[in-house]
Amino acid sequence: MIKVAVNGYGTIGKRVADAVSAQPDMEIIGVSKTRPSAEAFIAQKRGYPLYITDIAKKKAFEEIDILIAGSVEEMIQKADIVVDATPGGVGINNKVLYEKYSKKAIWEGGEGHKVAEFSFNASCNYTEAIGRQYARVVSCNTTGLCRIINLIDSVIGVKKVRATMIRRGSDPGDVKRGPIDAIVLNPVTIPSHHGSDVQSILPHINIVTSAMIVPTTLMHMHFLNMELKNFATKEQVIELIKTHSRLGLIEKSSGITSTSQLKEYTSDILRPRGDLWENGIFEDSISILDGTDLYLFQAIHQEADVVVETIDCIRAMMGDVKSAVESIAITNKAVGLTTIH
Ligand code: NAD
Repeated sequence: MIKVAVNGYGTIGKRVADAVSAQPDMEIIGVSKTRPSAEAFIAQKRGYPLYITDIAKKKAFEEIDILIAGSVEEMIQKADIVVDATPGGVGINNKVLYEKYSKKAIWEGGEGHKVAEFSFNASCNYTEAIGRQYARVVSCNTTGLCRIINLIDSVIGVKKVRATMIRRGSDPGDVKRGPIDAIVLNPVTIPSHHGSDVQSILPHINIVTSAMIVPTTLMHMHFLNMELKNFATKEQVIELIKTHSRLGLIEKSSGITSTSQLKEYTSDILRPRGDLWENGIFEDSISILDGTDLYLFQAIHQEADVVVETIDCIRAMMGDVKSAVESIAITNKAVGLTTIH
């Protein structure tokens, strides 16, 4: 069993911990928090040993009946691999700790490519991660872009991508962020950083991206245009999308035309936390103009899509499973990712 520690038990960390626990070849040996909170209670309820950054705060946890297994440094020593899911910009500071104990580590998309000098997406570059010491799972938006661009590029060929990200203002549980009444150009300059982030995995892709933030918490929405190298039909693209287990096709007959209806659907089919691990591609939006100009809308659940990628990244870095197809199948089955179309 691969012994996994999750450093930072928040939005992404708690999902990664549950996904790790569901895998047949992995176990959680600890998760970490900085201070007592509802999430600390959840960790205890799930049976995850809880470690803390500042051991001087142990008493504050124990006063509210949360048992502490030790310090984060002690947790790191017990792990084969650490998933660092601390807030963006914090994770890079933990690298010294992983180096000190020669532990493999994965960071999430809030850190730059530099932190690991290798960025990961299971369907694009799984084999390049095999045996690595460090990796970064790219952000939710970049994950969603890489999945669809790589598939279309490898079968039909992509000459140029233009994409606009309409991003959620905050996660549902985050009361401190906004906007609550604005469309914020973020960044106001074009291109946004998302295109170069895609190139950290697919360096040959010609891509220009822009992004804005809107007052919603459920998901991001992407408007995507790909100029194709070869002629294709809408039907071909739909059949291709159906071959990729992490590209979910939202069929016209479902009547779903919004992120809120989609979130309701993933809750109704009893996905944990209503999580959509796949890109939610709206079938009716797929259009090909002049034979080579592909357009589509896709919803990206920011809290979920990187979670399954993180699991595959763990497996690749530990080196026992050599193929992306095999790892993705194990991960999907364990978490319950079955087709939404
Ligand atoms: P979060 O704020 O929800 O959770 C972070 C957790 O880390 C919190 O529980 C916090 O208490 C804890 N923490 C803070 N400092 C710590 C430290 N020094 N040591 C240990 N724990 C510490 O953050 P998140 O949204 O889960 O983001 C985690 C990472 O995932 C970031 O890199 C982020 O950019 C990336 N990411 C987030 C989303 C998203 O939509 N939330 C999507 C994709 C990727």
